[in-house]
Amino acid sequence: MITNTLEIDGERLWQTLEVSGEIGKFRETGLRRLALSEEDKQMRDVFVGWCRDAGCSVEVDHLGNIFATRPGTDSALSAVSCGSHLDTQANGGKYDGILGVLSGLEIIRTLNDRGIETKRPIEVIVWTNEEGARFTPPMGAAMAFVGHIPADGVLGAKDSDGITFGEALKSIGYAGDENAANRDYDSYFELHIEQGPILDETNEDVGIVTGGYHSRGMKLDIRGETAHAGPTAMDQRQNALVGAGLVIAAVNDIGWKYHPENGKSTATQIFCEPNLAGIVPEYCRLSVDFRHPDESGAEIMYVEVQQAIAAAAKRAQVTIEVAETWTFGDSMFDDDCIKLLKDTADQMGQSHVDIMSQAGHDAYAMAHSTPVAMIFTPCTGGVSHNTGEKIELARTLPGVNVFLNAIVARANQ
Ligand SMILES: [Zn+2]
Repeated sequence: MITNTLEIDGERLWQTLEVSGEIGKFRETGLRRLALSEEDKQMRDVFVGWCRDAGCSVEVDHLGNIFATRPGTDSALSAVSCGSHLDTQANGGKYDGILGVLSGLEIIRTLNDRGIETKRPIEVIVWTNEEGARFTPPMGAAMAFVGHIPADGVLGAKDSDGITFGEALKSIGYAGDENAANRDYDSYFELHIEQGPILDETNEDVGIVTGGYHSRGMKLDIRGETAHAGPTAMDQRQNALVGAGLVIAAVNDIGWKYHPENGKSTATQIFCEPNLAGIVPEYCRLSVDFRHPDESGAEIMYVEVQQAIAAAAKRAQVTIEVAETWTFGDSMFDDDCIKLLKDTADQMGQSHVDIMSQAGHDAYAMAHSTPVAMIFTPCTGGVSHNTGEKIELARTLPGVNVFLNAIVARANQ
């Protein structure tokens, strides 16, 4: 056990989580704080205020990403960054993403309390619209920040009311300067609740993420033709909803087929037009999502999903076009950053386990341009993307303290 281990103020971290838990409160225990909504603006304002009070300079880029910087003693050195997101799912919890951002703030407050300077700056980043609950793709603002996808596509994405990401960004006052996105980092660390049951079930408090599941998704445009649901003969029907239904069932079967090797796939969202009781529908948009621990497994599932789509189109006499696809989880995290987290935990006498990420995170985007590692902390029962998401402070602190000490060590390199 090293003697100069730093510890954050757990009570203070919890208080910031409680303040956040009131902004966009939904169904008593949850949050509905969609990206670039009025609630998101309120939370951003509170966060920016906290960062300025902690002596940070704050910049916002053209995608609404927020960068709060605590200067280092050597201004020529690039920053050690950390962060996550403050937006939530429609039926979201109070900790997904939020814990990572507020842990970053708590690190800065802890260093301020003790008058500790670091060689490198430390920067806390809030990524816009990680969840993708309002605008797709998820993690788009982080992906565009690193140049992995074009910023124009992200800014032009529309929500279900036809409002673009760019318009929403302006309306909440967070359309910043494109130049603010010109940043180089030494490294990026993200702390996140696990969003799965492994840490909770095994009674481990610190998961060090060694990589991500290969995850893919697609949006399908399914087109048929409207007809009267009564007189139209079966062989004359081109029912887009039936096409969607066949894809939904097939994708679910594929998930079960790869269940023994921990693959999974499912349909997540559907829009149907005209969606009337007496009419054969002419159009459906369907989202499907699949994940596998290995890239080769994900590739096989992808091929099978495509075959299922072709078969469904034929059987329902409709056309099915892939309108959008996304992939994440291919980027591996950085060996040195992973080792730093493990060594730090070891030096603190803190037990830890290796874990794979099964959800998408902004860290995946950052891994395209910067050495990255992640820490997972337990969430009760693995419940996430749900208003019942819960964490225990006592089981969260070990991870946040490893996060703190690793970031300080890296910032002094
Ligand atoms: Zn998250």
